Amino acid sequence: MKMAPGRRLVELNMSLNINIRHLDDQEIHLKGELPVAELAFDVRDELIRAEKPLRYDLTMEKLHDAILVRGSLRLILDCECGRCLQPFEHEVVLGDWALHLPLEGEEKVLVENDSIDLTPFVREDMLLEFPQHPLCKPDCAGLKKTDNNQARKAGEKSETSASAWAELNKLKL
Ligand SMILES: [Zn+2]
Repeated sequence: MKMAPGRRLVELNMSLNINIRHLDDQEIHLKGELPVAELAFDVRDELIRAEKPLRYDLTMEKLHDAILVRGSLRLILDCECGRCLQPFEHEVVLGDWALHLPLEGEEKVLVENDSIDLTPFVREDMLLEFPQHPLCKPDCAGLKKTDNNQARKAGEKSETSASAWAELNKLKL
């Protein structure tokens, strides 16, 4: 892989906890996958499941009194259409994500053992992009009329068989 001079690629496996000492003299490039368990999304909608890892491709640099993170975040959700009930995949993409983390002042970011954990920021910004009412396509017409008819026919059939069972039960007595 070709890289800009003064740039370092850091491959992380299980966390987005970044040691900012790496940033003292150069920007770093973070690329990898974060297990979705690390993000622990609080998804209330039962039509949305977040199970696949989040993919990130980020550049992190130190400014005078802040850390700047820029890049992309991608996560594929397994959804069920709210109208036709078909399962489908929905990709949440933050293609131009930017995060400004002050190192001084009231808003300053928490630094522990020289490290900043990007996970809470990723979690919050991704959650805002989750679909509110997942639809397989914007103009999904829902269950087709014929499907409704079939459902009704199936309903009639089960009524018929229910009464057939009732007849059988009478015979048993
Ligand atoms: Zn649909």
